[in-house]
Amino acid sequence: MLTIDGSQGEGGGQILRTSLALALVTGQPFRIERIRAGRKKPGLLRQHRTAVLAAQEIGAARVSGAELGSLELEFQPGRVRSGEFHFAIGSAGSVTLVLQTVLPALLQADGPSVLVLEGGTHNPFAPPFEFLAQSFAPLLERMGPRLELTLERHGFHPAGGGRMRVAITPCARLAPLELRERGAPVSRRATAILAHLDAGIARRELEVVQDKLGWRAEECTIESAASPGPGNALVLAQTFEHVCEVVTSFGQRGVPAPEVGRRAVHELRRYLAHGAPVGEHLADQLLLPMALAGSGAFVTGEPSAHARTNRDVIRVFLDVGLELEPLEGGRTLVRAGPPRAQG
Ligand code: ATP
Repeated sequence: MLTIDGSQGEGGGQILRTSLALALVTGQPFRIERIRAGRKKPGLLRQHRTAVLAAQEIGAARVSGAELGSLELEFQPGRVRSGEFHFAIGSAGSVTLVLQTVLPALLQADGPSVLVLEGGTHNPFAPPFEFLAQSFAPLLERMGPRLELTLERHGFHPAGGGRMRVAITPCARLAPLELRERGAPVSRRATAILAHLDAGIARRELEVVQDKLGWRAEECTIESAASPGPGNALVLAQTFEHVCEVVTSFGQRGVPAPEVGRRAVHELRRYLAHGAPVGEHLADQLLLPMALAGSGAFVTGEPSAHARTNRDVIRVFLDVGLELEPLEGGRTLVRAGPPRAQG
């Protein structure tokens, strides 16, 4: 049985999710210690616990230590099955991170699956729905599987209550992805999502986008969301020939709407400045599918501590080289290949 140190690198929930995902794919049992030791509230939160239970159900796994707050866990996967699944976090914990845990196994399962996931769909520090649907899913589909994502109800922190449906058509083996250039710009869209809040908030956020990025009024939309609790997210999506970058900032009590606008603008500018096709969050999501494909490459900016930690965990489970090669202008070539190519 593999032993994973949950405190390594940035010491967050990704170490657990990547371990679960790859245990399902490889059949390799593992034990994880010091779960999320690097975080303020260490151990399993609801989101992580739901991810464990989802992985357990999909992989007919034997699990011990999956209680809330647990710092240690053992996971022995059985046979992965495809089909229909329903997982509810019971808080505003991120449904997209639960999906991230079970998706790799279902992408290569023996039949199609439909998942209904309930919880938070728009959470700070997790991929929001639009990021998955517009940025990540189209690239994953280039690798072979089909992924149909439907947002049935928005769920914001702290009330949660969102619902996302995911239909997955697997493929026998993921094909390599090559993504070295953005290609020509195609379109851009700013969406200020509001639930139970005044429309003036959205207008003030979008004014900042128009003012600072020069986006036109017809490229900016206000979307009113039916969700159990209040919430606000500003989503900027810029589509190029080969990739779509989605950045998101969240409305928060005490943070003025223009500041929410400036945060999103700042993040998009950082992406635009390095010229690489793959932004920081997309790099995090692509690493694991690329490792499963066994070859392929993409260009991103400076790899985050999150990405480096994720790479280290992936290499415990998979015999694959994941090279991070610095390029000029603060860019990095991330390449999957045979283990001997490892840098
Ligand atoms: P913790 O570390 O407290 O356990 P966590 O389990 O939520 O928290 P992290 O390890 O921080 O997990 O991982 C969060 C994931 O969400 C990463 O893959 C990161 O790239 C992604 N992410 C965070 N913010 C965004 C965003 N705005 N857009 C897309 N993805 C995001």
